[in-house]
Amino acid sequence: MAIGRKEREPFALEHASVATGNADGKILHDTTIVVGSDGRIEQISPSAKAFVPAGYHHIDASGKVVAPGLINAHTHLFAEGKLIQGKDASPRQEKAALALIHSPLGKAYLAAKVRSNVKALLNSGVTTIRSLGDAGYEMVALRDKVDSDDVLGPRILASGPMLAIPGGHGDPYIALSSSTPEQARLNARINLEHGVNAIKIAATGGVTDAKEVGVAGTPQMDEESMAAICEEAHEAGVIVAAHAQSAAGVRAALKAGVDTIEHGSPMDEELVELYRHNPRALRGFSGLNSTLSACLPLVKVSQEELGISDIIRANSEQVTSGMVQGARDGHKYGISEGVGTDTGMTLVTQYNTWRELDLMVRYAGFTPAEAFHAATQVNAKNLGVDDVTGSIAIGKDADLIVLDGDPAQDLRVLEHPNLVIARGWPVWRPKVKHIAEVDRLVETF
Ligand SMILES: [Zn+2]
Repeated sequence: MAIGRKEREPFALEHASVATGNADGKILHDTTIVVGSDGRIEQISPSAKAFVPAGYHHIDASGKVVAPGLINAHTHLFAEGKLIQGKDASPRQEKAALALIHSPLGKAYLAAKVRSNVKALLNSGVTTIRSLGDAGYEMVALRDKVDSDDVLGPRILASGPMLAIPGGHGDPYIALSSSTPEQARLNARINLEHGVNAIKIAATGGVTDAKEVGVAGTPQMDEESMAAICEEAHEAGVIVAAHAQSAAGVRAALKAGVDTIEHGSPMDEELVELYRHNPRALRGFSGLNSTLSACLPLVKVSQEELGISDIIRANSEQVTSGMVQGARDGHKYGISEGVGTDTGMTLVTQYNTWRELDLMVRYAGFTPAEAFHAATQVNAKNLGVDDVTGSIAIGKDADLIVLDGDPAQDLRVLEHPNLVIARGWPVWRPKVKHIAEVDRLVETF
């Protein structure tokens, strides 16, 4: 047993079809996967040749497909993703809610909320998440509880608050702000000292906080400040993500050395080259998470039902067409394109990660197998956790979902996993509490 890990009941999933998560949708038939008491995969073999040690629990998976658990590379856990009603309510009510969670009473409330939200992610088949913009360090605290097996949850890579410019995207509710490279570096150090696994920069403005039409993707933090943050983070082996919704913002962030671009923009030759070979990124390349789940509802659902202002609608339309084009370009040019949904934003629930894969197929040119590959193997590589998760391999953690069919053929099988296993811990009857109003609206497009 690994030091620091509680002992699990070892088991074998027998006679399963195994969805590998390879881009070509490869599947292994009649296979047995053996998982040890440390929660790691010990054996993957044709069932006829499998050896299941005495004392291991036998689980008959015949007729089922076992697949790697999903990874969601862009989550916020302080909200559920409900539709916020009322004409001009969304930014104002969101801000009131965020102000509340910084109060002493609010902190206890927030801890309970993030715990129930990660449970929704886990029960919907997501076994690894990266938070990208937290109220404080509540996700760092929850990560430690999950790592020490005190709380059952997905593996958490926690970001803490975003780093922004004064009055910029996320400031002051979920960001530390700076106006010089020196201050930006100090803010990065504050997050690193709190033990974050990732840093999030607001490189450009956002849709919900833009006060005029056309400014949603305006560059905010300068390249030099972003480069200072990347230097600090990379020295600690920590990856950096940048919220960037315009080509200018993406370019500055990539040149500064960020490891993943969130949202994105249409690509030109220089951007494609920077994504592929980024000398200042931690591992020499940069990934992309297009978060179509966060932008498409804001243009596809009627403005009346959304209750958003004309400004938000106009900015959403502009930014969304750029993000969709960026997702298409990323697929076309072979960028390391992962999957993140921006959970907690309007209409982005904690349980609908699979819908992002569906949107990548319908809007960005992915096959279902490629989208599933992006949510597993590519995400693991982009987040630097491919040594422990992202595929079913001997020595990796047993992060598994048991499904009724092959996700590489039909993504909808991901909606209701029969069984979710996170680091060897089973969730036998995974259930999520659906938000009926949100489900109805996201089903419409
Ligand atoms: Zn976000």
